[in-house]
Amino acid sequence: MAKHAVLSASGASRWIGCPGSVRLCAELPARFKNRTSVYADEGTAAHSVGEQCLRDGSFLPEDFRNHLIPAELKEWVCNDDMIQAVTIYVEYVRRRQREMGANLFVEARVRPLPERDDMYGTADAVLVEPYGEIEVIDYKHGAGVYVSEVDNDQMKFYGLGAVENVGPLNISGGKITIVQPRCQGTETVRPWDCSVDDLLNFGDVMRAARIETEKLDAPLIPGDYCRWCPAAALCPALNAQAELAVVDDFAEVIAEHEARGVVPEPEVTVTLPDSDDPDALYLALCMLPALDHFKKRVVEMAEDNLEHNIPVRGHKLVRKRANRAWVDPVALETRLRNKKGVKVGDFTTRALKSPAQMEKVAGIGKAFVADQCHNPKGGLTLVRAEDPRPEVTLLDEFADALDWTQD
Ligand code: SF4
Repeated sequence: MAKHAVLSASGASRWIGCPGSVRLCAELPARFKNRTSVYADEGTAAHSVGEQCLRDGSFLPEDFRNHLIPAELKEWVCNDDMIQAVTIYVEYVRRRQREMGANLFVEARVRPLPERDDMYGTADAVLVEPYGEIEVIDYKHGAGVYVSEVDNDQMKFYGLGAVENVGPLNISGGKITIVQPRCQGTETVRPWDCSVDDLLNFGDVMRAARIETEKLDAPLIPGDYCRWCPAAALCPALNAQAELAVVDDFAEVIAEHEARGVVPEPEVTVTLPDSDDPDALYLALCMLPALDHFKKRVVEMAEDNLEHNIPVRGHKLVRKRANRAWVDPVALETRLRNKKGVKVGDFTTRALKSPAQMEKVAGIGKAFVADQCHNPKGGLTLVRAEDPRPEVTLLDEFADALDWTQD
C-alpha cells in the first residue's frame, strides 16, 4: 500500500484548520489509519482507468468495458457509469493538452514546500505549457458531495507543488480544475484561475500551519473537514460538540438501563436549537456533517473490534437479513421456458431501458429520447448556501402551482 503523507494534500483543509488533528491521527491504532470506504474504493478504480488512458494516448475508457479494475477493497467492474464519467475527464485533459501545447504529467508527485519531505501529494494530471501556464486537473468520481474548485486547499496544494516542480519563474499563471461528472445539478468541469503569487502565498499559510501542528498543545478545532477526519470517532473536541448538541444526561440513562439488566437503547432527551434563533439553528446545521461522520466512524470502530474478537460492551455482530437467490438463474430460465403451461411473462418482467441506456441503441438516438423525456420536478432538499444549484423560494413554488392550475 502507498505510504501516506503526514501532511497530505487531501487532508490540507483539516490540518490547516485543526492543527491538533495531526497528533490525534498519528495516535490512532494502526487498523484505523488510512481506512477506505467503498465510495473511495470505487473512485480509486475509476482513477486507475483514467490514468491508464492518459498514460497511453491510444486508450479510451470504453476499452476497459466490463474489465475488473482492482482497488484496495475489491475489484470493480468498469461499467457504463464509470466509462461515461471517466471519458469526460480523459477528453477534457486531452483537449486542454492540445489547446495549450502542453506537456502532460499523469499522477504527478508534487512537493509544495521543497524543504519538507513529509508534505507531498499526487496530482491526477498536470499540464505545463513551456514558459506559460500550468493547469492542475483533479478527477472526483464521487456523486454525493459537491467539491468546490474555488480556493480549494487540496487543489492549491497540488498547484503550488506543480509550480515548485517547474520553478515559479518559468510559469506565467495557473488554473486548477475539478472534473466531477457524477455530481448532479452543477458544471461537470470547473476551472478556477489563480496566480503564481496566490499559490506562493498559500505556501506561507501551510508553513505557518505546519508549525502549529507540531506544538504539543496544538488545538483541536472542529469544522466542516471533520467529516473526512480519520480520528473523528476518538476526537474529544468533536465528542464534546456531539454531547452539547444532542444529549442530556446520556450516561445516567445508560446506567439506569444497565441496572435493570437490559441492553441500553435509551430514549434520550435531545436539546434542539430554538427554531426562532437563526444563529443557534445555523450552528446546529453546521455540526451535522461532522456528527454524521462521527456516528459512522464509531460504528466502524466497534464492528472492527468485534471482527478482531475484541468485545464491545453491550453490543454484538449479527447477520443481516439476505433475500433468497436463484442457485443457477440461467439453467432455471431454460427449465421454465420448457415447462408446459408456463408462459415467459409468468416468470419474467419487461421494463423499458432508462433514457441514458436508450440513447445508445442504434436507430433510436439522443434526439428521439429527448423528445420522449420529461424532467420530473425533484423534491426539495436542504443544502449549504454555496451549493451551485439555483435556490427555490416559496415564490417560485407558488408561481409554479399557479401555472399548473391555469393549464
Ligand atoms: S474530528 Fe475534527 S476536531 Fe477532531 S481531530 Fe479531526 S478535524 Fe480536528
